[in-house]
Amino acid sequence: MAKIFCVANQKGGVGKTTTTVNLAAGLAKVGQRVLMVDLDPQGNATMGSGVDKRQLQYTLYDVLLESATIAEARVKSEKLIEGGCSYDILGANRELAGAEVELVDVERREKRLKEALAQVDAEYDFVLIDCPPSLSMLTLNGLCSAHGVIVPMQCEYFALEGLTDLVNTIKQVHANLNPDLEIIGLLRVMFDPRVTLQAQVSDQLKAHFGDKVFDAVIPRNVRLAEAPSYGLPGVVFDPASKGAQAFISFAEEMVARIQKMKRA
Ligand code: ADP
Ligand code: MG
Repeated sequence: MAKIFCVANQKGGVGKTTTTVNLAAGLAKVGQRVLMVDLDPQGNATMGSGVDKRQLQYTLYDVLLESATIAEARVKSEKLIEGGCSYDILGANRELAGAEVELVDVERREKRLKEALAQVDAEYDFVLIDCPPSLSMLTLNGLCSAHGVIVPMQCEYFALEGLTDLVNTIKQVHANLNPDLEIIGLLRVMFDPRVTLQAQVSDQLKAHFGDKVFDAVIPRNVRLAEAPSYGLPGVVFDPASKGAQAFISFAEEMVARIQKMKRA
C-alpha cells in the first residue's frame, strides 16, 4: 500500500516544489516506487521533472474530471531514467485551474483524486503531491487523499504565523473529511545557520513541535535553484551538492518514518 503525502504550505516560494521533486528523486534513488502528482496549475513540478507540460496528452485535469485514469495519464521522464532516479509523473498545466470551476456542481468533488489514486495504490510505495499555494478545491483534493502533510518552511519570523492557518486547515480536514490526515513533519528549507534569526527560529520550532520537526535540514544551495532550468531535480542534476545530499538524507528519514507508521 502506498503512503500518500502532500507537500503543502499556503505561502508561495517557500520550497514546496523543490521539496517534492527532490524527495521524489531521493526516494527513487533509495529504491522506492514513487508517483509524483503535480497539483499546481503552474506545472513547475512537471517541468522540474523533465516533462514538458505543454506536450502532455492527459494531465491531472483529465483525471479529476474522470476523462482519463491515472494509468492513462501518468508519464515517465527520459531525463530521470538517464539520471537513474526515475519516478512516475502525473503532470499539470494551466488547464488544471479550470478544474476548480468545473467541479463546483459535482458530488464528492473533494474526493476525486483520492478515488483515482486508489486504483494505482498497489504500484507505489510513495505518492507525493505538490500543492499550490492556496486552500483551493485542488489543495482540498490533495489533503483528502493523503495520510500526511510535509510542510517545508523557511526559518524566519513570519513563517510561524503562516503555520497557524495551515495547522487549522489541516485540523478541519481531519475532523470533517479525512480522519487519517496529520502533519508528518516540518522540514526546514533554505537554511543558513550563519543567520542568527534562522537558528533561533529553528530552536523555537523544535521546542514547540518536537518530533514533528524532521532531522534533515535542507541548506540554501544554489545547485538546487539551478536544477529546474535543466528540467531536473537537484538530486539528479548534481548528486554531490550539499542540497542533493540533504534531500537524500531526508528520503532515508521518510523511509524510516513510514516503516514506523506501518508498525503502529
Ligand atoms: P514553492 O513551490 O513553494 O513556490 P519553490 O520550490 O518553487 O517554492 O522554490 C522557490 C524558489 O526558491 C525557486 O526559485 C527555487 O529554485 C528556490 N529554492 C528552493 N529551495 C532552495 C534551496 N534549498 N536553496 C536555494 N534555492 C532554493
Ligand atoms: Mg510550487
